[in-house]
Amino acid sequence: MSPDRRHPAGFWLDTCGDDLTPRPPLPGDETVDVAIVGGGFTGLWTAYYLAKADPTLRIAVIEKEIAGWGASGRNGGWCSADLVSPPEALAARYGADAAVSMQHAMFETVLEIGRVCEAEGIDAHYVRGGTLKVATTSLEAERLHADLEASHRLGWTAEDRRWLEPEEARQRIDVRGLVGATYTPHCAAVHPARLARGLARVVEGLGAQIFERTAVRAIAPGRVRTEEGTVRAGVVVRGLEGETGSVRGHGRLLLAVHIHMGVTEPLPPAFFDAVGWRERETLSDVRPVFVYAQRTRDDRIAFGLGRGHPHPGWLTPTYIVPTAVRPLRATLARLFPWTRRARIDSLWSGYIGMSRDWFPSVGLRDGIAWAGGYFGDGVSTANLAGRTLTELITGRETELSHLPWVGHRWQPWEPQALAMAGVGGIFTALRWADAIEASTGRPSRVLGVLDRALPS
Ligand SMILES: Cc1cc2nc3c(=O)[nH]c(=O)nc-3n(C[C@H](O)[C@H](O)[C@H](O)COP(=O)(O)OP(=O)(O)OC[C@H]3O[C@@H](n4cnc5c(N)ncnc54)[C@H](O)[C@@H]3O)c2cc1C
Repeated sequence: MSPDRRHPAGFWLDTCGDDLTPRPPLPGDETVDVAIVGGGFTGLWTAYYLAKADPTLRIAVIEKEIAGWGASGRNGGWCSADLVSPPEALAARYGADAAVSMQHAMFETVLEIGRVCEAEGIDAHYVRGGTLKVATTSLEAERLHADLEASHRLGWTAEDRRWLEPEEARQRIDVRGLVGATYTPHCAAVHPARLARGLARVVEGLGAQIFERTAVRAIAPGRVRTEEGTVRAGVVVRGLEGETGSVRGHGRLLLAVHIHMGVTEPLPPAFFDAVGWRERETLSDVRPVFVYAQRTRDDRIAFGLGRGHPHPGWLTPTYIVPTAVRPLRATLARLFPWTRRARIDSLWSGYIGMSRDWFPSVGLRDGIAWAGGYFGDGVSTANLAGRTLTELITGRETELSHLPWVGHRWQPWEPQALAMAGVGGIFTALRWADAIEASTGRPSRVLGVLDRALPS
């Protein structure tokens, strides 16, 4: 799809086993019941559940590139129960009961994705091995204990998340310098592009149309305008996440953040004999600039770094920023020094959507539905969004329609230059905090300042 080394499709799309030749674009004006803008997980899950709920609905997915080309086909493959807003933040804003309901809906979502893959024959390499979050200093261990206590205060049980002493943690994954870890079973590793592309095929099989290479310029109640024609629809769904700003008038809802990932060559059996990682748990540490990783089905490590850059509109989100590459390469070695010798087979980048208050949202108002603001936690959340939007659109409500994120109103961002400066400052401060903690072993004051300054 993309032979340009500066704009690679990335490992996942390259290995998804699907034909990436674009489907035909919108042929001209169309009329449907539901027009879905964006062919990522949000759009595709919405199309899937709508088509299942009412097979008579005429559904069109309109995608600028190809289905799965955005973050959905280029992420870390953590299908987790995490939300961008942690349970304490949800509880502070919406009350403890609402936070617990949301958390349980997310636990269930991780299972639901596995069920659909099974039922629809999507081989997304789904394995529910849980997540290991590791500490390699006493400071990180304190941070993990604090997280654990906070989640237990909100009703998580020891089954949902527990502390592992170093020996037990090492039996799962032997990370260098491990002093403890937490483990939760509520996460699966997936091959994200296999999931996105497989889902697109299932959606088509259910009768929905997918138009690719069709960029939407404007949306309004009942109407989607593209260069190729106008789609009239009873409901318009906006599922553009990091590229929400590409549609006129929606630019200040979500800020695009640009992040990079890489994948090693397949590692030899001796590496996994030494390290373990038998259950394909997803893995991260808890430094201010954290590493996240998964063991792929073919024994590579796919990994990324919790640092990004606000994304200026003029830069293509798939562009590899040269200065991002070295820290990414260095980062895996801090957990597994042996990987310094490993070849990096693919590096790529993508974009995520950040709301002003760091809350995700889903809703339907005046004929326009939306979902997004997942930040780095959209793989599962987009499935919950798809089911929720289906309820809102068909009017068949369950408890999903009453979760706290439904109808949540985002405060608009400041004008782009200001928003980018602010978010850029946050990422720079996190990098400083990371460097200070690494050299002193003590918490950086920068984090305290950020904690007070950021929305919670
Ligand atoms: C490097 C990286 C790592 C990540 N890791 C994880 C992880 O491990 N776990 C996790 O939960 N989340 C992760 N995320 C976030 C997750 O991938 C996203 O939250 C999720 O995929 C968002 O899905 P979406 O459908 O809302 O958006 P997208 O997948 O971005 O889909 C939006 C689609 O809209 C299309 N589009 C854009 N503009 C237009 C337009 N004008 N007209 C028509 N179509 C348009 C795009 O081409 C794209 O296909 C990561 C993201 C990245 C980039």
